[in-house]
Amino acid sequence: MDIAMIGAGIGGLTAAASLLRQGHRVRIYEQAVQVNEVGAAVQMSANAVKVLYDLGLRERLEQVSVKPRAFEFRRFDTGELLHEIPLGQAHERQHGHPYYQVHRGDLHAALMGVVQALDPQALQLGYRAVDVQEDATGVTVRFEEGRTAQAEMLVGSDGIKSVVRRHVVDTEPPVFTGQVAWRLAIPIERIAPALRPDLVSSIWCGPQNHAVMYYMRAGQVLNFVGCVERPWEEESWTSRKPWEELDQDYAGWHPVVRAAIENVDRDQCFRWALNNRQPVMTWCTDRVALLGDAVHPTLPYMAQGAAMAIEDAAVLARAVALPMPLAQALKVYQEHRAPRAARVVRESTEMGDLYHIADAQQMKQAFKDRNIAASRNNWLYPYNPLTVDLFSRP
Ligand SMILES: Cc1cc2nc3c(=O)[nH]c(=O)nc-3n(C[C@H](O)[C@H](O)[C@H](O)COP(=O)(O)OP(=O)(O)OC[C@H]3O[C@@H](n4cnc5c(N)ncnc54)[C@H](O)[C@@H]3O)c2cc1C
Repeated sequence: MDIAMIGAGIGGLTAAASLLRQGHRVRIYEQAVQVNEVGAAVQMSANAVKVLYDLGLRERLEQVSVKPRAFEFRRFDTGELLHEIPLGQAHERQHGHPYYQVHRGDLHAALMGVVQALDPQALQLGYRAVDVQEDATGVTVRFEEGRTAQAEMLVGSDGIKSVVRRHVVDTEPPVFTGQVAWRLAIPIERIAPALRPDLVSSIWCGPQNHAVMYYMRAGQVLNFVGCVERPWEEESWTSRKPWEELDQDYAGWHPVVRAAIENVDRDQCFRWALNNRQPVMTWCTDRVALLGDAVHPTLPYMAQGAAMAIEDAAVLARAVALPMPLAQALKVYQEHRAPRAARVVRESTEMGDLYHIADAQQMKQAFKDRNIAASRNNWLYPYNPLTVDLFSRP
């Protein structure tokens, strides 16, 4: 088929690679004139890593990623360990693939390499989609400056502010959650050895804020995400904010958290609004399919948004290969994927409340009651997008 895609993020590139490998002609239109991901990290659990390995990225991931030993939940001021979820060898043993932490730019570049090796013309930069039209014979996308593209099928992988979503689902904007996220990257050699976090994904839980820290770039850079309740602001990954506000948000926090804040470049403190949407069960029309944040933006509290986009991509390519008309194949994709993504969206939202501590004992109990490790090991990480029965409802 002739397939057009809008948006070359992690989800779009994974889908482009998966569809190209099946012999389709793919053109992926990206609004940016130069593709580069922001300087933040992303965690990749076994359910997504299965797809990345299948695309030939094992060696690259091993070179640039970090494998954390565990998730550690700590009290914001004393550093008391409140809860631990094993990752590392336990995750790999149980699910057959590692749990990685990787710089988004490294993952993005690796996926782009796969796409370009399959078809150097697939990625078309500087195309900002503004409108989609569909009829019985095909789909037409209109871009800014009057350019158009036609295809037999369209994939909307254009993120949380998706234009393609307006054609498939609704025109409602996403909803601000009341939380914003600081994003910092700190070269580890700046931090005194005694104040460096362990090789874990550490979640520091405060009364109104939390902070997540873990390593990327083979352990050379510390990634910091600080979620704070603040009034509405524009959703943008690239807006810089005064370091003094960050300093205030984390006043009185544990020395390990403070060391990250003290050592970041003062003009490199980024902050963006966390937005959300209610899960929807409509993901497709007869010729248009959505994937990733375009259809199910997910709060970062389970570290699964990009992983779901990767799962979507692999399943979409498999569904399109089914021996049935396209409209029917897209229904199979939608009906298989929507319930699982909805569960991740809902559980991610609920986790946000759990991270904000009022009472340490209550919090420990809440973690125990939820039994997060067992639950995720049971339904989230074992899923294999490459082999799962597409007619099942996981
Ligand atoms: C703080 C934070 C931490 C996170 N941590 C994790 C994590 O650890 N693990 C994890 O799995 N997920 C994580 N996520 C979620 C993850 O970042 C997203 O779910 C993921 O990036 C979505 O990928 P995507 O390809 O669907 O969309 P995007 O990455 O948003 O890509 C969309 C692309 O479409 C392009 N585009 C948009 N509109 C148009 C248009 N009109 N025309 C042409 N191109 C267009 C954009 O330029 C962009 O390149 C985190 C998110 C946040 C906010």
